[in-house]
Amino acid sequence: MCGIVGYIGSRVAQPLLIEGLKRLEYRGYDSAGVAVLEGDHLRIARAVGRVAEVEEKLDQLGGFAGTLGIAHTRWATHGGVTEANCHPHRDDKSGIALVHNGIIENYAALRTYLEEKGHVFSSETDTEVLAMLIGELYEGDLEKAVKAALREVTGAYAIAVLCEHDPNTLVVARKGSPLMVGVGSGEYVVASDASAIIAHTSQAFPLDDYNVVRITREGFRTSTINDVPVSPKMMQLEMDLEQIELGGFSHFMQKEIYEQPKVLRTTLRGRLDHNEGRVILGGLASFAKELIKARRFILTAQGTALHAAMIGEYLLEDLAKISAEVEYGSEFRYRNPIIEENTVVVAVSQSGETADTLCALREAKDRGAMALGVVNVVGSSIARETDAGVYLRVGPEVGVASTKAFTGQVTVLTMLALYMARRRFMSPEVCARCLRQLDEIPAKVEQTLESDYRVRKVTERYVERDNWLFLGRGYNYPTALEGALKLKEISYIHAEGMPAAEMKHGPIALIDDGMPVVFIANKGRQYDKVMSNIAEVRSRGGHVIAVATEGDNDIKSVAEEVLYIPECEEYLSPILAVVPLQLMAYHAAVLRGHDVDKPRNLAKSVTVE
Ligand code: GLU
Repeated sequence: MCGIVGYIGSRVAQPLLIEGLKRLEYRGYDSAGVAVLEGDHLRIARAVGRVAEVEEKLDQLGGFAGTLGIAHTRWATHGGVTEANCHPHRDDKSGIALVHNGIIENYAALRTYLEEKGHVFSSETDTEVLAMLIGELYEGDLEKAVKAALREVTGAYAIAVLCEHDPNTLVVARKGSPLMVGVGSGEYVVASDASAIIAHTSQAFPLDDYNVVRITREGFRTSTINDVPVSPKMMQLEMDLEQIELGGFSHFMQKEIYEQPKVLRTTLRGRLDHNEGRVILGGLASFAKELIKARRFILTAQGTALHAAMIGEYLLEDLAKISAEVEYGSEFRYRNPIIEENTVVVAVSQSGETADTLCALREAKDRGAMALGVVNVVGSSIARETDAGVYLRVGPEVGVASTKAFTGQVTVLTMLALYMARRRFMSPEVCARCLRQLDEIPAKVEQTLESDYRVRKVTERYVERDNWLFLGRGYNYPTALEGALKLKEISYIHAEGMPAAEMKHGPIALIDDGMPVVFIANKGRQYDKVMSNIAEVRSRGGHVIAVATEGDNDIKSVAEEVLYIPECEEYLSPILAVVPLQLMAYHAAVLRGHDVDKPRNLAKSVTVE
């Protein structure tokens, strides 16, 4: 969610900051801005809309020449999307400029306090309050003022701050929102994630909560807001630029849909031991003994990851015969959850920074649960705060609408279920058979992608319709939810997903002539029941688009449109069935003329509660 970039070094900061903001655009934002220190003079350009609009302003202003600067893409939480509310924000006394990601929860009380002291605010944001507070506390030492201010603040923040009176200092800090410092030679690039750093250096360290880093051109120093020194955990960024560039595709979402066969092979690589009939998950090795005692799994997530977690629930119960349930992180956290002994909480999140999921994880840990992470971004908050975990290894996901991370999450959860099953009761022979089936999935995803043209044709026929239903049963009920979510997210079409059986308990009232109803109707235990649900829709005039198993000819007589997926075991079918739904959402958005990679109002990684 939103992005921060900061630079201090010997190069002109402006182009680096702008390039960094563009790399972070995928995180979702509604306005942007840049501040650069030219000598001891602060220059600021801000604009509502795209980074390109800030660039235009910079052109009109003749560009900024300084070598220290901060930049921001904002995803408004407090105050409308206006230029006055754009970051960077300044104070009115000490020459402070600040960019902030997150929410200052006690901003109202602080604002009253500062107004009583005579400060005059020019925005409605919580962020400006923090800028003023730092300015109020500034007595010639920026780091000291930032720490003092942060000790007064509740909420979440990643901030980058500079001061007109100190042209050789950039101060950054974090609590709850991600931030990392890239360390080059004689220069530093600070950013919300590695994608804005990698073009300049591959050495970086993430900040922990309550950490403050004071950076000068000569070096840096990390400590807590209470001034306790901290040694940063330096890491090598394993990302190359190609992974975050379009390379021939029209959109990142399209690229990532097509990458799925390749990345799922990477997800599986080295983890399936066919000879011994077992799954090897290095990230769980140190925790294996604990896991064997597990009696209950709680999977917690939000959005697309929640749908993957729901499939995980089915997988753990079906394959590993262990009690499992799924919880929205946001709900779980605040409802006084009961955690019995030997409960394992699994936090599922692409970014590893999802605030709701992270908070739920902390709550569960406080109540005694073992904590596992299923995340994509290495070194992210969830990865660092869990006892053990499994990385997705699907590479950076830039498209805001998650695709390859979803199939990666389901693949990892399948391995987790087989891992648990094998440790509990499953024979090596049975497990080996499952591993062979799982190993065939990337090739089957490849085959499924061949129907792209057909999916586009079908989408063209219904794209004008404003209301859609997505229905499935069993393993593919979460797939139906995911199909509906994809369509909503990027094409802004109203779509509802639900269990196919639930439709007749109310939503059937919505069905009118020609309403598109997408059924996940692959061969499986509930196939006949799904057929009955299809009949119910048809008799009320709905048009059925069925995702069905290759070779199923009967379905052609009851569905207006059929999209085939290769034959596979039922427990693996969501990974295939979701692919035509991803493509359908993609085509619908393109056909409706929407910006697929920058959908309105959405943020890629939601780092506020
Ligand atoms: N709460 C701040 C605002 O609304 C920061 C939002 C963000 O993370 O972009 O300005």
